[in-house]
Amino acid sequence: MSLAQEILELKRSQRAVVLAHNYQSPEIQDLADYVGDSLGLSQQAAATDAEVIAFCGVHFMGETAKILCPQKIVVLPDAAAGCSLSDSCPADKLAAYLDEHRERNFYVVAYINCSAAVKALCDVICTSGNAQRIVSRIPRDREILFIPDRNLGSWILESDPTRLMTLWPGGCHVHERFTPAAIQRAAAQHPATKILVHPECDAAVRALGDIVCSTEKMIAYCRDSEAKEFILVTEPAMLHRMRSEVPGKTFFAAPTDDAPCSECEYMKYNTLEKLRDCLRDLSPQITLTEDLRARAETPVRRMLEWSQL
Ligand code: SF4
Repeated sequence: MSLAQEILELKRSQRAVVLAHNYQSPEIQDLADYVGDSLGLSQQAAATDAEVIAFCGVHFMGETAKILCPQKIVVLPDAAAGCSLSDSCPADKLAAYLDEHRERNFYVVAYINCSAAVKALCDVICTSGNAQRIVSRIPRDREILFIPDRNLGSWILESDPTRLMTLWPGGCHVHERFTPAAIQRAAAQHPATKILVHPECDAAVRALGDIVCSTEKMIAYCRDSEAKEFILVTEPAMLHRMRSEVPGKTFFAAPTDDAPCSECEYMKYNTLEKLRDCLRDLSPQITLTEDLRARAETPVRRMLEWSQL
């Protein structure tokens, strides 16, 4: 039996669903029941009736699935798949900061790329797809602390500059590798292209984009656009989904100053072999204490509720 057939058979026998992030390698995307961004994946996790969720992404994503589905088994192909953005805001540092600045009564908004322990300290979660909508629902007299991504936070502030918001100094090394010079060079090589930029990039790179948006919105933009060529300023695995869902158009991965693209090495920890093994062994599993899970669930549920309004 091929590896792919083994995985399909294990999905059936374990009553499992495979969720894969847009940044997973093409062979994993092709075997997944659902491929998407963080918002879509958490909505799928919340809705599935499968008994096992095999989460092909990084650790905080598996935690989010477990927060929403405590009764289900959530496995990751590789438990060591971390995230530099999540690591940039440890829970103990956030707790100390909130304690030190208690008089400011922060409304804490966390980008979903953070640990369960950090989510448990927050008021609401957001993704790059819904960040502006979520922030718009917060009373204007409350000072917001936006964690952990300063770039996503500054992008929200660009659309609402009067908002009182403090930005946590965190970032994603994959998106912060892009520079204006590298994007301008790519644009000069492909003059007819549209440039799509993920909001985790810094402001100078975002300023070069025809659109700044989440990976999910990138698909709709390319499908609806009359343009034929696009440069995607995000993780290059996104090209696989684009090529299969928007046929007949041409996509390029954005380069950095010293590489043809900017890969997330954590996302690539997951392999087909590890996916097969985690489905077979139901390990490694995500486990959370019920107290932590319940505290983290409140802001995640608030996001899901506000996303639908
Ligand atoms: S691309 Fe950046 S934010 Fe996404 S998992 Fe990798 S390090 Fe984290």
